[in-house]
Amino acid sequence: MQAVYQSVKFEQKLLDKNALKVVKTISNAGFEVYLVGGCVRDLLLGLKPKDFDIATSAKPEEVHKLFKRSRLIGRRFRLVHVLFDARNFIEVATFRSGTVKTAQSGIIRRDNCYGTLAQDVVRRDFNINALYYDTQNHQIIDYVGGLKDINNKAINMIGEAKKRFEEDPVRMIRAVRFQVKLDAKLSAEIKTCLHNQAQLLSHISPARLFEECIKLFHNEYGFEVFCQLEHYGLLPHLFEQTERNDFIKKALLNTSARIQQNKPVTPVFLFAVFLWQAQNQRFLQIKQKQKSNNLAMRQASEEVIRKQIKQVSMPKWLSFRMIDIWMLQAKLEEKNPKYTEKLLHNPRFRMAYDFLLLRSKSINPELKSAADFWTKAQR
Ligand code: ATP
Ligand code: MG
Repeated sequence: MQAVYQSVKFEQKLLDKNALKVVKTISNAGFEVYLVGGCVRDLLLGLKPKDFDIATSAKPEEVHKLFKRSRLIGRRFRLVHVLFDARNFIEVATFRSGTVKTAQSGIIRRDNCYGTLAQDVVRRDFNINALYYDTQNHQIIDYVGGLKDINNKAINMIGEAKKRFEEDPVRMIRAVRFQVKLDAKLSAEIKTCLHNQAQLLSHISPARLFEECIKLFHNEYGFEVFCQLEHYGLLPHLFEQTERNDFIKKALLNTSARIQQNKPVTPVFLFAVFLWQAQNQRFLQIKQKQKSNNLAMRQASEEVIRKQIKQVSMPKWLSFRMIDIWMLQAKLEEKNPKYTEKLLHNPRFRMAYDFLLLRSKSINPELKSAADFWTKAQR
């Protein structure tokens, strides 16, 4: 494998100051160190990187020793987080070799063998994600044709796609996310694998998929991601009870708009929207035997959630809040003046109202008067 070096000078203001500090300290200690992955890709594409990752020849313990405020993390592979403040840390990974230990399914069980830069390249997922940037010499190091792919907006797998997806099926949803985020084209090989291997997602722990789902939908292009997951048959392996409707579409577009305006977003809303239709259907079934609406709502909610967390799990607090939003819908639909004040002071009111508003603008136009009522009540 031959490396190509290309001089590129990024504007200093686009680079994260903390990341540069970390690079400098590691480099001064005599180790090889680079910015790597998504940040290099995004900088080349003129996008603002979400985070700055660092790859180095220094072992995790060696990195840890260089920074007073740092911690060793990770079980499957050890990483160092260099802490700057409560919310900001820089992740430093030691070069790893591609030698992986896989289970019978092909899934990676262990890949914590340290290696060289050239070995570190091939364990990454796509060519566009395997570029290294030497901040001191202002040089990109490209072993796999990542620069060419970035210019062509092409997503190609490093190595054989079928095998790399088997090793780590999360790469399938990453492929879809990058395709949408970068407006890039997936290789024919990747497309075929997505269609054929979607069921591999069932090998991934529901907790890991929860984290991945937030990355899928909490961005400026969540609805397009949803459509592509549907297209490649991946969606049923994440949300088997979810089917696209206008409510989901409007909610995802709304989430993206909020992110654009720097407004807060929460996965509670996302999951509540995705599971609403299934919850309603189950409610109607249970209602045939159960007189109390309240009890039927609760039971339907719990059943739908229990089924969901087998695929993509969510923390307990999240499912409780989701049930609150659902239970509040009936109360908001009622518009009972006796409870107006009390509901306005409910800590979940705002989210339940947003939920009702989106329903009224999509699948439940008959709720317009209820939505108007609560819009006025807040004034
Ligand atoms: P973004 O931060 O925009 O989501 P990213 O490419 O930076 O995209 P990260 O999850 O931050 O994604 O990972 C950093 C880098 O680590 C990637 O660019 C890639 O090189 C490598 N990587 C991450 N996840 C995997 C994976 N599942 N398999 C192989 N390599 C991976
Ligand atoms: Mg990243």
